[in-house]
Amino acid sequence: MIERLREGPYAILRWAMPKVNVLNAESVAAFREAIESVLQDPTIEGIVITSRNREFLAGADLETVQALVEAGDPQTIYASSWAVQETFLRLERGGKPVVAALNGSALGGGYELALACHHRIAVADPAIELGLPETTLGLMPGGGGTQRLPRKIGLTAALELILEGRRLRPQEALQKGLIEATVETPEALIEAALRWLSQKPLATNPWIKDSAGPEALFKNLAHSPVFSAAIARLREKTYGHYPGLEYCLRAIYEGLHVPFEEALRIESRYFAKTLATRTARAMVKTLFLERQRLLNLPHRPKGIPPASIQKVAILGGGMMGRAIAYVCAQAGYDTWVKDTTEAALTQAQAFSENLLERAQKRGYLTPARAQTLRQHLHFTIDYADLAGADLVIEAVFEDRAVKSQVYREVLPYLSPKGILASNTSTLPITSLAEAAGYEERFIGLHFFSPAERMPLLEVILGQKTGEETLAWALDFAQRIGKVPIVVRDSRGFFTSRVFGMYVREGLRMLLEGIPPALIENLGRQAGMPVGPLALADEVSISLMYSILRQTERDLGVSLSEDPVAKVGPLFVEQLGRVGRKAGGGFYEYPTDGRKKYLWPRLHELFLPRSVNPAEYADLMDRFLYVQTAEALRTYAEGVLLDKRDGDVGSILGWGFAPFTGGVFHFIEWVGESTFHARAAQLVQRYGDRFSIV
Ligand code: NAD
Repeated sequence: MIERLREGPYAILRWAMPKVNVLNAESVAAFREAIESVLQDPTIEGIVITSRNREFLAGADLETVQALVEAGDPQTIYASSWAVQETFLRLERGGKPVVAALNGSALGGGYELALACHHRIAVADPAIELGLPETTLGLMPGGGGTQRLPRKIGLTAALELILEGRRLRPQEALQKGLIEATVETPEALIEAALRWLSQKPLATNPWIKDSAGPEALFKNLAHSPVFSAAIARLREKTYGHYPGLEYCLRAIYEGLHVPFEEALRIESRYFAKTLATRTARAMVKTLFLERQRLLNLPHRPKGIPPASIQKVAILGGGMMGRAIAYVCAQAGYDTWVKDTTEAALTQAQAFSENLLERAQKRGYLTPARAQTLRQHLHFTIDYADLAGADLVIEAVFEDRAVKSQVYREVLPYLSPKGILASNTSTLPITSLAEAAGYEERFIGLHFFSPAERMPLLEVILGQKTGEETLAWALDFAQRIGKVPIVVRDSRGFFTSRVFGMYVREGLRMLLEGIPPALIENLGRQAGMPVGPLALADEVSISLMYSILRQTERDLGVSLSEDPVAKVGPLFVEQLGRVGRKAGGGFYEYPTDGRKKYLWPRLHELFLPRSVNPAEYADLMDRFLYVQTAEALRTYAEGVLLDKRDGDVGSILGWGFAPFTGGVFHFIEWVGESTFHARAAQLVQRYGDRFSIV
């Protein structure tokens, strides 16, 4: 597990676990033993820690974490954290200089090990990530991170990194002081580490009691106003939904008042409290276990050889098409964007240039990689350039006629086994496939905006979509690094249908006279990332309205009771306030850099009534329950294949209250019987949309 090599008077300890280097009971014990042997060997003067695998050390073994979280016993959790702390302390205080040679990513416990070393050198490769991302899974660092990082880089910078769980590339990590040096190539790494050791550096860190760092300094730091601000910011952002974040803050604050070893014990205690929460259980399950399961493509039909996709064509270089193209080029596909005018293509190209520039500035991309990506991206107004495309992703206007026309036009250029996919957010895939006259190799690939960042891909099966088409689509998802969920065809599929209920509930409240600011605040307080009115503006009121009209036409029904039917005519037809892209919707979007704010005239159009704070609980529950009720309907109808997919999809797709573990897991999070009783109450008070199937 840990290889011991020797280079003159120095020992090189190399993590070499069979698959991925992780911290678990066995590997910590093996590492401890390796450290002891080199510390006790009088011929060894210094230690290099590195790895034989692609990553340096990926952190805690999340399966172990999952088992701890499931068992929920604070004593056991504490003991597991303390075993790591002791090992790292032994290394840090062992009396021999130690350098971390970071050949790959060091996250969570991996970076905490690096922190316990006396010097850190990383390869300047943008694929490498460093940092403490535990809080993004509802957890907190438990290997000394909350104590060493603030003492190393300062309180303000450390709080931001830990509470936001940010991952940094080597270049930024160097600027922020997380590491001391970088080297250009992996080959130069060990040499640089040995060079550092050869300078006979001090074998200590400033925060170790009997060395340079006076404890008083940290005490002053602990009284800094930074904490009051951090508490307020945390509250504003999370409304107390993430106990792990609060425990983390407490561990930092309390730890800075006491000697270092005691500080580590405080961290381990809060770590145990955090892992024993239902939030940690919910988040680890959905965001780690289930997400990981989906990355292994459980819905891929068996026995079909890997996809052979080389050339990808994107129809429409608008907001979605241009971002999808970037993602495809990034994955190494020969990517072509087709639009109708040069002006549209210029804009699409400017978009990717902008992304490339930003990524390079932040150290995410080397100039050479940027150049390769550029070479993979082509822009054209001529279908002939798409000849031989293995996958066509259509992202033109959400309009049946336009879509049908481009299908007819592009089909002759598809390779013989070519797949035609639509990025439609709402139109049934089966009907589009029929219109194209190309059904077996037609599929829905629903990306989320901004597609270059959003991790989810909703894959939609038409009635006649073939198995190979699905297999290829999933292989494609995997290659572009998205998490795919598979759903059957339905109007709005799974995602648009469920989050549409959130937006509609907000519109209903507006029509009921709930003040707009209250609606927005309660939406966020319930755990959603943005208020429903802000979300309506993002999606655009005109899009929702045109979808509603299209649905009425397709089904031959009148949907006049739908809240979108009630606000649509006013906002779209009369006022032209269709959302953010038009500069105004429910919000105003100033062009002078000021933040958006609610359109003041909403108060004239929807006369606000006074709301008793006792009503807030109902209003907040309406937001979450209405989504879960709809999600259950999609499952009952067979649209969604697996509820666990829906949990992942709801968090990654539209940010459904992550602390609950997702739109289905919400039921378990609330408690099954409490959930049903509350849903029944909401049905009685507000209507059938809350009924549970
Ligand atoms: P958009 O209006 O920004 O872009 C559409 C692009 O298609 C424009 O550049 C237009 O010039 C181009 N186009 C129109 N007719 C064309 C033709 N005949 N040939 C080639 N190009 C043509 O729209 P968008 O927001 O990018 O949406 C595109 C599709 O993606 C829609 O089906 C939409 O439902 C879906 N979608 C949108 C979002 C979103 O958040 N906006 C999210 C998921 C899916």
